[in-house]
Amino acid sequence: MSTALISSVRAALSTVDDPEIRRPITELGMVESVEVDEFGAAAVRVLLTVAGCPMKAQLTRDVTAAVSRVDGVTSVDVTLGVMTDAQRGELRQTLRGDAPANEIPFAQPGSRTRVYAVASGKGGVGKSSVTVNLAASLAARGLSVGVLDADIYGFSVPRMLGVTGKPTQVDQMIMPPIAHDVKVISIGMFTPGNTAVVWRGPMLHRALQQFLADVFWGDLDVLLMDLPPGTGDIAISVAQLVPSAELLVVTTPQLAAREVAERAGSIALQTHQQIVGVVENMSWLDLPDGSRMELFGSGGGQAVADSLAASTGTRVPLLGQIPIDQSVREGGDNGAPVVLTAPNSPAAQAMGKVADALAARQRSLVGKSLGLTPVR
Ligand code: ADP
Repeated sequence: MSTALISSVRAALSTVDDPEIRRPITELGMVESVEVDEFGAAAVRVLLTVAGCPMKAQLTRDVTAAVSRVDGVTSVDVTLGVMTDAQRGELRQTLRGDAPANEIPFAQPGSRTRVYAVASGKGGVGKSSVTVNLAASLAARGLSVGVLDADIYGFSVPRMLGVTGKPTQVDQMIMPPIAHDVKVISIGMFTPGNTAVVWRGPMLHRALQQFLADVFWGDLDVLLMDLPPGTGDIAISVAQLVPSAELLVVTTPQLAAREVAERAGSIALQTHQQIVGVVENMSWLDLPDGSRMELFGSGGGQAVADSLAASTGTRVPLLGQIPIDQSVREGGDNGAPVVLTAPNSPAAQAMGKVADALAARQRSLVGKSLGLTPVR
């Protein structure tokens, strides 16, 4: 057996990332053995983190492809095994270091993840649609993005992002499924079928705590949290668990939506959270003759931004106005966000503009108190 060839195969394996953890399998202790016989036939044994790993086919494909490219290798045989508890423990140590269980990485000083809690006053204004499109848009810009569906009662994020897989669990860590390069976790992944979740406040708080602490998010640039509509327990829990989370308020132009959006936003006053801005959704419908039909009225987004700016004493910009567009709804139903499928449509362009505004924000400011005291 040529040791040089084995080193080349190992080097090739270090270019293969685990599809869920997104780190080289060589760093994760997943390569158990590498052998190459005198005819160049390579045999690689890879250890899965858990037996039912949904990614085995992809992993086998990726390993085969990488090793086949090595000069001198004539064939590749990949066999799969499963890590022992001790190996999973080591993997956990590699990934999380000495961070205590239950520690929320985003709440630690020095966390470089921008956390945006997407809030609305009432349901149906497009909060989840905005969340998933912003996530896909930011991921397409090369940022590392996660979405936490905290809309425990009305979870729709997995469908909108086309996530069908279940999270795998590795030694107390939950590996979030990935769709369109976005890591996604939702209470909907833990309930059978479409069972409605009827939980009370303390359980919601616990679920959120677990999603923030036990999910292996990796190094995220941005975490978007889709909050349930209204000013409920979850918004307060978010503020307690991740004080640096900033609110992104979604509203329609309609007066009723506007009033409740202001109330939802004003929670930031009590919790001392920053409001990053307001997104107005369903702003108008472009008609074939080029005119605009303002189905839900006009000016709601700007009015919410102005009112929140006045009540918090901070600058609250209107970050975008998203028109009504059938492709937004279709993209949600098909799990293919419109920003990816029809990037030139006016709705996708408007969402992209909001994503730009979020992407351009200085990381250095995030997580630091700006020392502003809200005006009451
Ligand atoms: P929320 O999260 O606020 O309850 P959703 O994102 O679930 O709202 O949106 C409610 C419905 O409206 C969904 O069917 C969604 O596809 C649709 N929708 C949202 N925004 C738009 C838009 N700009 N144009 C067309 N349909 C939209």
